[in-house]
Amino acid sequence: MTDQLTTDLAEGIGRSRSTDYLNMKGMLSDDEIGLLVKVRDFGESELLPIVNDYWERGEFPFEAIPKLRELRIVGDTMQGYGITPMSAVGQGLVSYELNRIDGSIGTFMGVHVGLAMQSIYILGSEEQRQRWLPDMAELQKIGAFALTEPDHGSDSVALEATATRDGDHWVINGRKRWPGNAVWCDVIVVFARDTADQQVKAFVVEKDDPGYSATKIGGKVSLRMVQNADIVLDDVRIPDDRRLVNCNGFPDVAKVLMGTRNMVAWASTGHAVAAYEIALTYSQRRSQFGKPIATKQVIQSQLVEMLGDVTAMQLYCIRLGQLLDQGEVTDTMAALAKYFCSVKARHVCRMARDVLGGNGITLDFHVMRHMCDMEALVTYEGTAEIQSLLVGREITGKGAFA
Ligand SMILES: Cc1cc2nc3c(=O)[nH]c(=O)nc-3n(C[C@H](O)[C@H](O)[C@H](O)COP(=O)(O)OP(=O)(O)OC[C@H]3O[C@@H](n4cnc5c(N)ncnc54)[C@H](O)[C@@H]3O)c2cc1C
Repeated sequence: MTDQLTTDLAEGIGRSRSTDYLNMKGMLSDDEIGLLVKVRDFGESELLPIVNDYWERGEFPFEAIPKLRELRIVGDTMQGYGITPMSAVGQGLVSYELNRIDGSIGTFMGVHVGLAMQSIYILGSEEQRQRWLPDMAELQKIGAFALTEPDHGSDSVALEATATRDGDHWVINGRKRWPGNAVWCDVIVVFARDTADQQVKAFVVEKDDPGYSATKIGGKVSLRMVQNADIVLDDVRIPDDRRLVNCNGFPDVAKVLMGTRNMVAWASTGHAVAAYEIALTYSQRRSQFGKPIATKQVIQSQLVEMLGDVTAMQLYCIRLGQLLDQGEVTDTMAALAKYFCSVKARHVCRMARDVLGGNGITLDFHVMRHMCDMEALVTYEGTAEIQSLLVGREITGKGAFA
């Protein structure tokens, strides 16, 4: 195949085909449809043209931040503090559309809004919310969330970082691994164990605090634009008013994680729908044995399997969002959605990559980027196995973690 033919095949291939086989849109409010269209247009015009290059270089596209600011999509279900009000379904649609274009941008926003801002919103006092959230809502200050440690990922409940009260201050020591944005962001919500009562507490560390250092994790082949960090906390001394007052144990941390698992379900669905649509378009353009490959029964069967999975994921997400808006979501409902959507999305991306043959492994056709990025989504916010153990315990009454 010549370069020109490759270019023609790839032309506009990441653009949305509005896959919505069971009329998901019919379940959305006018505001939610407006939000979806706004983010989709933005993603296709502003992000799609730049993401492959940044992904390849492994650099974060700082040029996107002012544009994201203008879009007014820092929302989630939080109220006030300059935050754009939106339903849980609306916030899910934002994640769906951002990840449909690129997982690194979606994850950047997920960490900033769903993890860092929500931690301050859920676990902070009114004064603490006022102090940090307005700047974060404007993307003037960017946040990170530091729970995982080198020796404690799935069992982060056993985290070893310590916080020791010293008069009006706390002294924090320990190491964290993986927090996204943490290499360059402004505020980092750090979880550490109080040496007095052994409970997990939350602290807002600022990037210039003496004793805080964050080193970029290199060699990542997934979410390459996200700057994940290895963090060292070496006698980081912060005033007591930077301890988030409503975090008094690990169950409080879990309140934050429930919302973000919902967001990973939406994000996975965005990746899957992108991969399916690219495979469909490609199959109609690419001819072999004298006809488009879309005319082959095996290819159609793969496309239908992908569509079935994508449609199920869309329905999962919409229903989960509705239940969140009604305050009726449980931890395990969010865990099941995260499990189902992330595992299915990984499978859909792999099938799509097969449909594209050799072109499937190039960045030009986007599918491989989605497939690589899905590997991180299956793992973060609790691996697929851990979600399965959470739901398994719920339905059998038997814990199988240890
Ligand atoms: C790209 C990326 C971004 C991330 N961002 C953040 C972030 O912003 N903030 C943050 O705090 N953390 C972050 N994380 C960390 C993430 O949440 C952890 O990687 C995840 O929880 C898994 O922990 P682990 O990597 O230590 O794997 P491990 O816990 O070591 O697990 C290894 C394997 O063992 C399995 N396993 C573990 N326990 C059991 C069990 N009881 N039964 C059966 N199988 C088990 C796991 O499912 C997995 O397959 C990020 C990770 C990645 C990869």
